Parts: sequence; C-alpha cells; structure tokens
Amino acid sequence: MSWEENVRKVVPYTPGEQPKNRNVIKLNTNECPYPPAPGVKKALQEFDVDTLRLYPDPSATVLVDALAEYYDVKSSQVFVGVGSDDVLAMIFMTFFNSKNPIIFPDITYSFYDVWADLFRIPYRQIPLDEDFNIVKEDYMGKGIMGGKPCGGIIFPNPNAPTGVLIGLDFIEDIVKANPDVIVVVDEAYIDFGGVSALPLIQKYDNLLVVQTFSKSRAMAGIRIGYAFGSEKLIQYLNDVKFSFNSYTLNRTALTLGVEAVKDDAYFKEIVGKIVNTREWVKNELKELGFTFRDSQSNFIFATHPDYDVVEIFEELRKRDIYVRHFNGERIKDYLRITIGTDDEMNILIKNIKEIIKC
Ligand code: PMP
Repeated sequence: MSWEENVRKVVPYTPGEQPKNRNVIKLNTNECPYPPAPGVKKALQEFDVDTLRLYPDPSATVLVDALAEYYDVKSSQVFVGVGSDDVLAMIFMTFFNSKNPIIFPDITYSFYDVWADLFRIPYRQIPLDEDFNIVKEDYMGKGIMGGKPCGGIIFPNPNAPTGVLIGLDFIEDIVKANPDVIVVVDEAYIDFGGVSALPLIQKYDNLLVVQTFSKSRAMAGIRIGYAFGSEKLIQYLNDVKFSFNSYTLNRTALTLGVEAVKDDAYFKEIVGKIVNTREWVKNELKELGFTFRDSQSNFIFATHPDYDVVEIFEELRKRDIYVRHFNGERIKDYLRITIGTDDEMNILIKNIKEIIKC
C-alpha cells in the first residue's frame, strides 16, 4: 500500500490573482480601494515590537470586546478568526457534522464546496433561479430536499458573486423553518447596502452571522473575520478553535483591529464613497450595454449580450486592469468587477469603451 492512498486529497480553492506589480488597477478580489482608518497607521507605527516575543491573547479579548461594544452584543456572542475564511472553516468543522447534506446555492462563494470536501461533509448545491435569486421555498419545509432534513444551511447576503441582496424577513423565514440545523449568513458584503441579520441572533439560537474586516474596513491584509451567535454556539466554536490552534489572531492584528473598529466615522465615509462610485458605474455599464442584477455589494457581476466577456477580461489584463472571471457553467459569461476609486473606475470604463469600440 502506498502512503499516497492515505493522503487527504482535495481540489483547493483558487484565490483571485495577486499581481506582483503594484501599478495595476486591481478590481479582482473585492478589496477596498481606500487605506485603513488613520488610527490603524498610527497604532502600527507605535506598535511595541518587543511584545512579539510573547504569544498573543488566545481569547483575543480586546478585539472581541471592541466588536461586542460596537455591535451591542455580549462578548460571549462574538467569535474571531483569521479572516472570515478561518471563521467559516471553523463553523463548517464545528456544526456541519450530520450525515445529511448541508445546502447552499449553486452560484455562491466558491469556498463552501471546498470546505465541505475537505471536511468530508455531504452537500447539495441548490440552483438559484434564472435571475440569480435564492428561492426561499427550496430551503424550507418540503423544499428542494423533498422534506428530507438537511445538515445545515449557508449562503452569503448579499450573495457572491451575484451581489443580489435578500431581506431580513426572507432570512428569518429560513432560520425559523430550520430549527434543528445551524443557518449561517455570510455577510462579507453587508455594509455596502444591506441590513444585517445580527439582531436575529437574540431570537434564534441556530443562527450565525459572519462578517469581515477585509472589505468595508479596508483590512484584507491583516486577516480578521468574526461571527455572532448565541452564547452556546460561540462556546462550541471556541472549543473547536482551541482544539485546533489557540493563537489564531496575532498581536498586530488584535491591536490594529481594535483601532479600525473605533473609527466609525471613517468606516462610514469609505463605505459611502464606494456606494456612490458603484451607483455611477452601474449607469456607465448599462450605457455600454452590460446587463447585471442590482448589486448591493462592492462589486458588479455583469455580462454583455454582444461581446465575449473573456476577451474583454483578457484585453483589460493586458492593460493592467484586473477583474475576475469564473469558469462555472452558469456564470462563464460574466465578469465580477470590484468597485475601486472614482479614478480607477473612470480608467476601467474608458478602456472597456476602447475594447468594445463604443
Ligand atoms: N465570504 C465571501 C462571500 C467572500 O467573498 C469572501 C472573500 N473572498 C470571504 C467570505 C472571505 O473573506 P476574508 O477571509 O478575507 O474575510
């Protein structure tokens, strides 16, 4: 027998390209085009490097407390991790242990099926309707599972990469209809136009709401994500985390994360700017003949009836403008364009015009 038979073989998630050249216009991984809050820079400059000889606080208390205060929940209702990817992976490991398949949309964050495969979790991908809407009834009652129980539910809101937002009533109906499994709402993009499901955690002990510092708080490079849930859910998550890696968030991340949470005015300012830019970019893209669902996130997922989007993608890349293209069957004719600064988006539009000769 070869050792290779016993390898945990997985097909890894493919992260968006991170070009070495810093002079590109980078609209391919939904990062924030603005720098982190000024207090973050100051705290980094004043950071006491000598403290790095010591392990960080394994409970990440300062950050957990800052988030609890900001979002008006108890610290025991907050879990933090190394980006929401880490938080989501812990959630999969902790709560998705049923023999029944977990369910999530067919067009969604492409890490969900990777974690499911990694952790040997059965799953079923539920098709969005033709307009990329989540069909609520599929996740309830007799639903698409024909009344058979599922092992858990996860979806982003707004969904990624479609940008389509659903309302709180919609989410509450799904959470209420599935009291025997954990429902996870991945709110990576909620700050760009949605209403968070956070208040529902006080009412339902089977709901987890996950957010990140990577988008609206402009700190993808520091890797901080967090989840809110009932005290019981957070306790279970921490038990698994402490059985896997106690020191997830490093000292710098804890210090800088707290600074980012403190500056609410800056947070609102940059989110507001991105939303404004998004709205005029929507108009420009429409004028160029692109079609897309109305995005409430920091990206637009667009197709064009007359042009091959892969050609546009490649031509933009030659001009050092990076957007994202996914190969999935239902989405291969779409480009996901992250909202950058006004200047970046003007350059993007100008170049698209040249490429499609408008
Ligand atoms: N969820 C969704 C829907 C995302 O698009 C992303 C970003 N790739 C993440 C979670 C993970 O983000 P991060 O680990 O940077 O918090």
